[in-house]
Amino acid sequence: MPRILAVDEFWGQGFSEPGAGSDLAGLRTKAVLDGDEWVIDGQKVWTSAGARADWMYVLCRTDPDAPRHKGISMLLIPVDQPGVEVRPIKNILGGAEFCEVFFTGARTSVDMVVGEVNAGWGVAMGALGTERGTTLLAEHLRIAGEVRQMIDEARTSGATERAVMRADLARAWSEAKIMEWNGLRLMSAIKGRGPNPEVHASIAKVFASEAHRRMGEAAMRAEGSRSELVGEGYGLDRLQQIFLSSRAETIYGGTSQIQYNVLSERTLGLPREPRRA
Ligand SMILES: Cc1cc2nc3c(=O)[nH]c(=O)nc-3n(C[C@H](O)[C@H](O)[C@H](O)COP(=O)(O)OP(=O)(O)OC[C@H]3O[C@@H](n4cnc5c(N)ncnc54)[C@H](O)[C@@H]3O)c2cc1C
Repeated sequence: MPRILAVDEFWGQGFSEPGAGSDLAGLRTKAVLDGDEWVIDGQKVWTSAGARADWMYVLCRTDPDAPRHKGISMLLIPVDQPGVEVRPIKNILGGAEFCEVFFTGARTSVDMVVGEVNAGWGVAMGALGTERGTTLLAEHLRIAGEVRQMIDEARTSGATERAVMRADLARAWSEAKIMEWNGLRLMSAIKGRGPNPEVHASIAKVFASEAHRRMGEAAMRAEGSRSELVGEGYGLDRLQQIFLSSRAETIYGGTSQIQYNVLSERTLGLPREPRRA
C-alpha cells in the first residue's frame, strides 16, 4: 500500500475481456494451480494505464464447473514476466491510455489472491462500487471550472448572443451544481449518515457521466467553428479534450444502461430483465 500511495508502483484493473464487459461474469481468462503457483491464460482489454502497470488485479476463472458468478477469483499478477504481453490501444484523443493484456502461461504465487479462492465476484463488485463512489466525490470541483471556461469561451466567440446557447450554459451550470450535491449526499451515505452508498454511487455516476457528455457537446457549440480544428501535429485544446474524453465516461465503471438497470431493478423494484443462469 505505501508504494501505491507514493505512486512508486502502478496497478492495472484486469476485469474486462473481449466478450465480457457489461456481462463480466462471462469472463474466460483462467487460472490453474501448479504446485505453489497459479498459471494464467487468457486476454483482458481496456486496461487503463496497462502499459505502465507493475502489477494487475485480475479476475480469473478458477473453477470452470461452478456457476458463472461463483468460480471466479481475483489474483494479483506481476506484469514484468515473459507470460504477460501488453499492447496499447490508441484512443480518440490520440493517446494510448488503455491496453490489451495477453496472459500466456503467466505465473503468480499461490497466496496472491484477494479474498477467498472462488469468491472474487464479491471482491470485484466491492471494487467497482468504490470506484464509482470515490472518483465522483470531488469531481464537481473540476467540472465547475470547466463550465466557467465554457462560459468565457462562449462570451469570446459571441455564442452567448444565441438564446439556445444561453440555455445550454445555464443547464451546464445547474448540472455541475447537482453533481456537487450528489457528491455531498454520497459522502454522507459513505459516512453512515444516509441510506445505501451503492445506490447513491450509481445515481451520481450515471448523472455525472451523462451530464458531462452534454457539457462537452455544449462546449463545442460555445467554441464555434474553432472546435472543428483537429489534425496531425495539432494539440487539442482543453474543451476539445473534454468533449472527446467525456464520451468514455458513460462506458467505464459500468455503462449508463447497466446503471439504469441496476437502479430500476434493485432500487425501484421494477421487473428484472431476463438473465442467463
Ligand atoms: C476509458 C475506458 C477505460 C477502461 N478501463 C478499464 C480498466 O482499467 N479495466 C477493465 O477491466 N475495464 C476497463 N474498461 C472497460 C469497461 O469496464 C467496459 O468497456 C464496460 O464495462 C462495457 O463493456 P463493453 O465495452 O464490453 O461493452 P458491452 O458490454 O458489449 O456493451 C455494449 C453496449 O450494450 C449495452 N448493454 C450491454 N448489456 C446491456 C443490458 N443488459 N441492458 C441494456 N444495455 C446493455 C451497453 O450499455 C453498451 O452501450 C474501460 C473502458 C473505457 C472506455
